[in-house]
Amino acid sequence: MVFAGTLATAAFAQAPGQPSTAAADDAVDAAVQPGDDFFGYANGAWLKSALIPADKGRWGAGSEIAEKTKGQVAALLDDAGAEPPGSDARKVADFRAAYLNEAAIDARGLAPLKAPLHRIDLIRDRRDLERFLGSELRADVDPMNMGVYDSSHVLGLAVQAGAHGEKNYVAYLLQGGLGLPDREQYLSAEPKARAARLEYESAIGRVLGLLAAEGARVPMASADRSAAVMALETEIARSHATPEASADEHSADTLWTRADFARDAPGIDWATVFEAGGLARQQKFVAWQPAALKGLARLVATESLETWKDYLRVRLIFRYADVLPAALGLRSAASQPGGRKQVALDATQAAMGDALGRMYVGRHFPPEYKARVQVIAANVIAAFTRRVESAAWMSPSTKAVALAKLKVLYFGVGYPDRWQDYSDLAVDAGDAIGNVQRVAQLDYRRALARLGRPVDRTEWPIAPQWPGAVLTFNQNAYSFAAALLQPPKFDPSASDAANYGAIGAIVGHEVSHFVDTLGANYDAEGALHRWWSDEDMALYRSATEPLVSQFSGYLPLPGVTVDGKISLTENLADLGGLVAAFDAYRGTLGDKVRDKEYVRRQDRQFFIGFARSWRTKYRDDDAVKKQAASDHAPERYRISTVRNMDAWYEAFDVKPGQLLYLEPGARVRIW
Ligand SMILES: [Zn+2]
Repeated sequence: MVFAGTLATAAFAQAPGQPSTAAADDAVDAAVQPGDDFFGYANGAWLKSALIPADKGRWGAGSEIAEKTKGQVAALLDDAGAEPPGSDARKVADFRAAYLNEAAIDARGLAPLKAPLHRIDLIRDRRDLERFLGSELRADVDPMNMGVYDSSHVLGLAVQAGAHGEKNYVAYLLQGGLGLPDREQYLSAEPKARAARLEYESAIGRVLGLLAAEGARVPMASADRSAAVMALETEIARSHATPEASADEHSADTLWTRADFARDAPGIDWATVFEAGGLARQQKFVAWQPAALKGLARLVATESLETWKDYLRVRLIFRYADVLPAALGLRSAASQPGGRKQVALDATQAAMGDALGRMYVGRHFPPEYKARVQVIAANVIAAFTRRVESAAWMSPSTKAVALAKLKVLYFGVGYPDRWQDYSDLAVDAGDAIGNVQRVAQLDYRRALARLGRPVDRTEWPIAPQWPGAVLTFNQNAYSFAAALLQPPKFDPSASDAANYGAIGAIVGHEVSHFVDTLGANYDAEGALHRWWSDEDMALYRSATEPLVSQFSGYLPLPGVTVDGKISLTENLADLGGLVAAFDAYRGTLGDKVRDKEYVRRQDRQFFIGFARSWRTKYRDDDAVKKQAASDHAPERYRISTVRNMDAWYEAFDVKPGQLLYLEPGARVRIW
């Protein structure tokens, strides 16, 4: 259902606006024969000069673009502090500033949480508890796009596209409420999990003691009270789905009416919960983890009210631990990877991703870049569509669905057509907790406003400054964020040929996933419905067998082979993407196609652009071994797929006897 990832490429470090590595042939390793080792030839200069950071097992690709983007985003935020108050840019800067303002955080202590703590004090019966739980519903889960399956509250709401071709948005209800990462941490007998539990329980005790000391209406904390909270959380955890079960796309199949809630999850008056959550009119929800809803309902009915109230107090405090005084001894932002600065940056990106994204593209991804990549993408998708039309191995009925999918595909480039609106969000540089609360409320109002509305397939699940791409099969949509579209994946100063070889081949790769074994579970309406038959699978297996053998024949280390079976899907996508990008690029040559020498030079740029977009270095044999056994073969071999294309032989004079040479009949052609 979801395929999210950072597409790997690598870049020569290069300041924005400077001319790039330009002529594709500049940085090749002339001592290497392209026909023996195309990856080493094309990436020669980079392989010699790039350094793997001491804490990394591999380097190249996404890591480099991600690193560069980090610096770009930090600079944007630093500059935004000077923007006029009230502007989105200033709000973004103030949001981060509040996170970093330790003096203000220390001075205010627990004061910003007085109101919610008071609301918990006022809970006197089950109905009050249900009302409180409903009022705490937030849209902090994302099952259909980014795979967030657990809320920080006992329940999380998502209003997203359905998995069954629904025209309108669907309401999803998901589990939540744990302070430790997942159910295993509460139930496992492993020493590590036991130790984590002990530490967590003592932290619970500290929080309860803290509240007592602050004069909140909590009797003196005792070990019994923290044990009771721990026991309640453990029961909640016991009802939870495992992360693996939550990630199953068929979790979207359980649609509950109000009557189903009453019958299958008794103990809670669900109408009260939904009404308090602004969902009075919503009749149906996807129960993503039905056992968790059932477990929660039972616990609301049976667990002591005082324990529930302690639990809610503890959860409240932990939720804001990053923006509470370090002296309280909670998990502190400073102790997390990257320190307070990184925590502040991550929180800001999560809170106001689109506002920051708008600033990002304003500086780093102008409309002309977007237009250029859109043209490349459109041409590659058209070329890939022609490849599918003429694929001999695919049965006509399956091909019809594949073509229908390619026709409706939404392919987003750089940034969305419409931005999120932050005009009614107040951000105060001295009120970190208030900012976080207001953002969560804004997100929730947005989610509620989508109920009953038609699905907007052009809406983006990621922000433009996130250096990655997200494919959503249930929306037949793909978004390539602006931050991903940097050299050498997309190099605005490079030739079309080089860019078709780089970003064009990546577009082709990703688009091919919509109609391959990955996309086979979702049809053109975005419905979770298998449109490949067993017969299609048999045809596919025999058509792809030569590609499996080709990759299984690669030996990255003595005695270590690439797993051609596991990596087949990705290797096929590489090959399909490359041939489609090549067709598309040749289509741009026009009359110049008659100039043989010109075409040959351009072809070389195309293939070198391809090889450079995947350059990667490994620290040691273990890192290589790990990659060889994974679904993405080591980049060197992914690039070697050029040996299946006749044009590559002509462009680089590859001759029989060279290591990558294949007889024309042995070159694999699938799409
Ligand atoms: Zn892929």
